[in-house]
Amino acid sequence: MTAPQDPILLTPGPLTTSRRTKEAMLSDYGSRDMRFIEMNRRVRAMLLDVAHARDTHVAVPLQGSGTFAVEAMLGTLVPRDGHVLVPANGAYCQRIARILGVLGRRATRIDYPEEQPVRAEDVARALEREPSISHVALVHCETSTGMLNPLAEVAGAVAARGRGLLVDAMSSFGALEIDAPRVPFDALVAASGKCLEGPPGMGFALVRRGVLERCAGNAHSLVLDLHDQWTSMEKNAQWRFTPPTHVLAALHAALEQFAAEGGQPARGARYRRNCEALVAGMTRLGFRLFLEPRHQAPIIVTFHAPGDPGYRFQEFYDRVRERGYVLYPGKLTQVDTLRVGCIGHVDERTMQAAVQAIGETVREMGITRLAPEKAAA
Ligand SMILES: *Cc1c(COP(=O)(O)O)cnc(C)c1O
Repeated sequence: MTAPQDPILLTPGPLTTSRRTKEAMLSDYGSRDMRFIEMNRRVRAMLLDVAHARDTHVAVPLQGSGTFAVEAMLGTLVPRDGHVLVPANGAYCQRIARILGVLGRRATRIDYPEEQPVRAEDVARALEREPSISHVALVHCETSTGMLNPLAEVAGAVAARGRGLLVDAMSSFGALEIDAPRVPFDALVAASGKCLEGPPGMGFALVRRGVLERCAGNAHSLVLDLHDQWTSMEKNAQWRFTPPTHVLAALHAALEQFAAEGGQPARGARYRRNCEALVAGMTRLGFRLFLEPRHQAPIIVTFHAPGDPGYRFQEFYDRVRERGYVLYPGKLTQVDTLRVGCIGHVDERTMQAAVQAIGETVREMGITRLAPEKAAA
């Protein structure tokens, strides 16, 4: 399944990939190689199929990590005199606001505590109050906590008020349902190295065709201009600059495996089983969830750090890593937490084995109080 020396990555990405996906990177393709051009065409079509968006949207791939695609979406879709509403309940929402600041685009935030989902009513009210708002930028799964934000409700509120919705679906795309015919969005971004289980290295945007056609000249950047990337790829089937050929070949293989598994419903079901096995096992050990279960996406789970005075994240991390599993630190400012991902080429047996490794580590470190310091709900 994976090389024996490789640890299992239970993180928000890079993730554990299958052997077949890794083997797809054993060929060198020239950027004008017909095999590469055909793969590129197929990848773009398969990405649209994940969101049932072939009739309405176009897929524009882009070099770089996921944030490059987020910045490209904001810079290309939001005109220089645009105004973006950013409902914010975590670090990735804040990053969107920060990017807008760097780009010199006007932004208004609605701030929520990190344990609360965005509310569509608040978005609706803000849009009615401020006619200048042209777009809403929503993070679907806020990966800093694992919070699932209500995409369909927000999309409905935005569409009903004639504004454009920009979605960061980085950690949900492929795992959770995103049905373009029912959930209207102008643009959505995700990346190769998350729930599609490819290697990291390229992002992509699904953009409503009629909207993208009107975005010429918006972008503040040459390399992050999705309109230019799209028109030039349509013209000559080429990427504008050196394409990440190995990453694309591996993503192509990963998408074939995604389809063979049963597409998004099957991928989402496997991640839900992973998440249930993880939460059940960790709860049995005595760990406490940070989020209410009904707000938790089956992507990455935030647990309170144990309140035991002997707990140190770095030592805990190192010892679990020695047993073959890579965890992730928490990303919250107020509360001490740790995160465990349930995505990637792993199944519930992997999650059970990871829980066992965590349990052994807890005992080895002499940690007896697993509940957080301040007895929480
Ligand atoms: C992973 C992720 C990103 C992109 O992060 P990179 O480190 O640039 O790949 C953006 N938004 C969300 C919600 C993510 O989970």
